[in-house]
Amino acid sequence: MLDQSPNRPALPAEIARRRTFAIISHPDAGKTTLTEKFLLFGGAIQMAGQVRAKGEARRTRSDFMQMEKDRGISVSASAMSFDYGKFRFNLVDTPGHSDFSEDTYRTLTAVDAAVMVIDGAKGVESQTQKLFEVCRLRDLPILTFCNKMDREARETFEIIDEIQENLAIDVTPASWPIGMGREFIGCYDMLNDRLELMDRADRNRVAESIRIDGLDDPKMEQYVPPQLLEKLREEVEMARALLPALNPQSVLEGHMTPIWFGSAINSFGVKELMDGIGRYGPEPQPQSATPRQIAPEEDKVTGFVFKVQANMDPKHRDRVAFVRLASGHFMRGMKLTHVRSKKPMAITNPVLFLAADRELAEEAWAGDIIGIPNHGQLRIGDTLTEGEALKVTGIPSFAPELLQGVRAGDPMKAKHLEKALMQFAEEGAAKVFKPMIGSGFIVGVVGALQFEVLGSRIELEYGLPVRFEASQFTSARWVHGPREAVDKLVNANKQHIGYDHDGDVVYLTRLQWDIDRIVRDYPEITLSATKEMM
Ligand code: GDP
Repeated sequence: MLDQSPNRPALPAEIARRRTFAIISHPDAGKTTLTEKFLLFGGAIQMAGQVRAKGEARRTRSDFMQMEKDRGISVSASAMSFDYGKFRFNLVDTPGHSDFSEDTYRTLTAVDAAVMVIDGAKGVESQTQKLFEVCRLRDLPILTFCNKMDREARETFEIIDEIQENLAIDVTPASWPIGMGREFIGCYDMLNDRLELMDRADRNRVAESIRIDGLDDPKMEQYVPPQLLEKLREEVEMARALLPALNPQSVLEGHMTPIWFGSAINSFGVKELMDGIGRYGPEPQPQSATPRQIAPEEDKVTGFVFKVQANMDPKHRDRVAFVRLASGHFMRGMKLTHVRSKKPMAITNPVLFLAADRELAEEAWAGDIIGIPNHGQLRIGDTLTEGEALKVTGIPSFAPELLQGVRAGDPMKAKHLEKALMQFAEEGAAKVFKPMIGSGFIVGVVGALQFEVLGSRIELEYGLPVRFEASQFTSARWVHGPREAVDKLVNANKQHIGYDHDGDVVYLTRLQWDIDRIVRDYPEITLSATKEMM
């Protein structure tokens, strides 16, 4: 199957076997369960459940995690790598907040494909729809898993129609469910003419797979009860007549999604999905950058930071920058150029994330995600190269839409608060502004829930209770322009000026009128609602 890159024959086999993807779903559809089964079949862990068990042990340490759990927000495992057959899968976690954070969008810039998990009884839910639209912006290929078929689900055609209509994407059935709920016995594999039967007795066992010579094969009668068989034959015939056949190119272009039906908790349908990711999912794709695109097969190593996470290990106040390798063959100890600062960095202790554990990465290839522990030099959007001044593009930064003031519960702790806030600003968890006049800080976020998350994290990770309060400002604009013009604006508008965590000047206001006035009075200045992340 490594003959998959007819367009890019130069792709080394090590790169061609990589599949880097994220799971998009609505909370409760089964993302965690499916992830566990991926890891189980990927041999990364012995028994499904370990991820969760470990995760939970960790979660109990922290009320923040408790809050995540209570609200159905998934804990960020960030990135996991495992082998499956001849493939190396890199699964990047999308934070499942119902209030969107920028993190979610950025995660999707680091993957080549997405697996969309839907609940067979609920169909396309709001969060799935939103995430799907982000994938669509990048034409990401999408493979669909319809989960919980062991429960009462909707009719198969209804599910497929709903996806086609709500998401405006062609759907092609890769498998067809036989029965549903208590009667669900398995699926007919439409691509390989096999019967896959679910093992209800042992949830971690892979289903029995039986080679079938088409639906009329008399063998079918041995396994499928007569009413179900009749329905199956009818439905498959209709599906073949009415629904588009699988077109791998169209899948790669993001216009068609193959759908597998299954039950993650029963380990059913998961292997077929994994085979599908290997077979129909894209290999590492070229990365947009200035002044030129980066091809994965280039000899030289390049990569970019799409996520920064602080305090992953409460004992070590380290930060880990998650880097997606865009090209080349990375070896531990390599010196890479940090393009923004033009400084060399020796990458001596990069980590790979195998299941829930970290491991030193001796080597990695384009498509892989490595974690680089650092003290804050690496920021979201940064590019690493072997010397060339390339800048990866397309990592979004969002305008903070909600502003609030924040103060330490204990005024003596203002300095500590500043440190905590700066760290979260670096992670991209919030925008933080220090007003030029007055005390305290102003925090800007995209969704209201982020204030709460931030408050809990500051309290937990820094032992600092904080108070959020209404801010006199509602909008923030970064000020760009020649030095003198910026100074002039600052001096004349001190009440409105703040500095972000990089020390860049921000104009704060509650009136659009003020913004219009600045634009009019300072022709050399431009105001922008987002800060470019590079
Ligand atoms: P997430 O919020 O998307 O990560 O969902 P989880 O994986 O935590 O699953 C949500 C709930 O659905 C849990 O109680 C799971 O045990 C359950 N669940 C997951 N997959 C299945 C399935 O195939 N069948 C049934 N009946 N329940 C499932």
